[in-house]
Amino acid sequence: RPTLAFEDVRFGYEEDREILHGLSFEVPAGAHVAIVGPSGAGKSTIGRLLFRFYDPWAGRITIDGQDIAQVTQESLRAAIGIVPQDSVLFNDTIGYNIAYGRDCATRDDVIAAARDAAILPFIERLPEGFDTEVGERGLKLSGGEKQRVAIARTLVKDPPILLLDEATSALDSRTEQAILATLRRVSEHRTTLAIAHRLSTIADADRILVLEQGRLAESGTHRELLAGR
Ligand code: ADP
Ligand code: ADP
Repeated sequence: RPTLAFEDVRFGYEEDREILHGLSFEVPAGAHVAIVGPSGAGKSTIGRLLFRFYDPWAGRITIDGQDIAQVTQESLRAAIGIVPQDSVLFNDTIGYNIAYGRDCATRDDVIAAARDAAILPFIERLPEGFDTEVGERGLKLSGGEKQRVAIARTLVKDPPILLLDEATSALDSRTEQAILATLRRVSEHRTTLAIAHRLSTIADADRILVLEQGRLAESGTHRELLAGR
């Protein structure tokens, strides 16, 4: 399990408008760190930098001390699994959607990932199981089911680092609680960075960082942050 670190990262989308003003934080190996903050604070930007959609103006992002700018896209994608807010599924089978992006995924891998994402019983109830078509012409999945298929797709790569990017923000609160329980379980042994705009969804993080206008305003455990308010 690797350690993930942002070291004095400066970045902006436009030349004269810096969005992250020297951001530093560490997610120790196997730890869970969450970032909360108001809309526009720069939370999503952190994810985009992590996947190198953009590179920092200054500073470094490291995995076990190695600058991600020195790592191939391939190994970066193998190292980091993302669970985004609105997962896009293909108009194809459930099995294809889970195996997608991992050519070597065997049927056993797909089944194991579906089990980890707590969707296996649901799939087994379908007459065509993993071969059930989803999307426009196939079965309509609920938001929660879609998100579970997406989680299985991420888990099939067995990534040592997980980025949960508003992973439950689009769900109703009951579905959200169920998905959060699954995410807690599957992230247990992984270095995890969770991005959220509500404190309640990340209550069990080892450490919570509050991002405001591209700077860390405060940090602490959930209890410490609530006590300080
Ligand atoms: P958050 O995820 O915390 O809501 P973002 O990281 O999405 O915040 O955005 C941080 C700031 O960067 C905002 O002021 C936003 O307007 C700006 N921003 C985001 N994406 C772009 C972009 N592609 N081009 C220019 N500005 C952007
Ligand atoms: P792979 O690229 O190894 O097949 P995935 O199936 O997880 O892995 O593909 C997701 C890739 O797409 C990520 O590696 C990331 O680069 C990008 N990606 C997908 N959704 C998002 C998102 N919401 N934010 C940032 N990056 C994303």
